[in-house]
Amino acid sequence: MATYVFGHTNPDSDSIVGAISLAYLKNQICEECIPTRQGEISPETKFILEKFGFEVPELKTSYAGEDVYIIDYSDLAQAPKDILEANIKGIVDHHKLGDITTSAPLECWIRPIGCSNTVVKEMFDYYDVEIPKNLAGAMMCAILSDTVIFKSPTCTKVDTKAVKELASIAGIEDYKALGMEMFLVKSALEGATARELTTRDYKNFDMGGKKVGIGQLEVVDLSVFDDKKEMLFEDLKALKDENANHTVMLLLTDIIEEGSQLLVVSDDESLVEEAFGVKLQNSQVWLPKVLSRKKQVVPFLEKAFK
Ligand code: MG
Ligand code: MG
Ligand code: MG
Repeated sequence: MATYVFGHTNPDSDSIVGAISLAYLKNQICEECIPTRQGEISPETKFILEKFGFEVPELKTSYAGEDVYIIDYSDLAQAPKDILEANIKGIVDHHKLGDITTSAPLECWIRPIGCSNTVVKEMFDYYDVEIPKNLAGAMMCAILSDTVIFKSPTCTKVDTKAVKELASIAGIEDYKALGMEMFLVKSALEGATARELTTRDYKNFDMGGKKVGIGQLEVVDLSVFDDKKEMLFEDLKALKDENANHTVMLLLTDIIEEGSQLLVVSDDESLVEEAFGVKLQNSQVWLPKVLSRKKQVVPFLEKAFK
């Protein structure tokens, strides 16, 4: 029986490429694995898969009775509904430890570094398995995406070293230019509906029993949102009602200015103000230097929402 490998809901490039890279590694060490995904891929991920010649992994949202590896998360809120009926053989991740638990021993590779694909790179090294050229290119892009081309405070020396090694395998000289090209693809919002934008990179969290959803859009210039704020707020309100959330937020991250405009729809805005020590104006605030949801947003909200 093959084992499925997949990342979180609303998959980003790390989740999709991570499923592909981890499944490839496992197949090389004689464990039959199939990469899958829980949702639609983003334009950035499409760019990466096309550039390096990979098929989009199969969409699969139910895993009861299956053997699985999960990558890039360990929170129930980002897992398939029936994840606890699956046999979780392992977790590869770089987030806080979530609330997924297992009834059997499992393999865990969880490291406080910038990207799950950096962890997979270390696994390749550990098992002494060669990384194919095109896979190295895709893994490199996933790391550049998660670390915002090394600008994110989540980026470590392990990540920059992995990017350099992968770039050399892939034969890519100017990896930062490729990273920028990728973020330009990410910044093109034409034709996207409000819902596509609010949920493109959206995660739900359980914070002290309150359901908190946080989306993030990383762009090279925030002016792309100038005529879109109103429709984004409207959709955040709808999203909050549909999912009975306590709070829904959207981080509009400017990777050049290095900061995020936070849009908030909440039953209690004061909790968000308390978390960041700020005052919201028209339910928004500029958070200078904030690029990382997992390191600069979630921990502060969790403290305030407890
Ligand atoms: Mg991710
Ligand atoms: Mg990641
Ligand atoms: Mg990200």
